[in-house]
Amino acid sequence: MLSLACRDTGAKVIECDYVARGMTEEELWKDGTEHIVKVHGMKIEDITPQFKHYYKQYIKHS
Ligand SMILES: [Zn+2]
Repeated sequence: MLSLACRDTGAKVIECDYVARGMTEEELWKDGTEHIVKVHGMKIEDITPQFKHYYKQYIKHS
């Protein structure tokens, strides 16, 4: 299982307790993208491969 805690990704979202999860990176990003668009007001087109590549370092494997 992969997880990516919103809180771990930067000071701007430090108060957010959301953790995106997925069995694969693709699933994780499906979950995570929905969250950041809905809750943090980002645009779907901002979730670029570069964006995902950057935040990959915060993904936890369990
Ligand atoms: Zn969040």
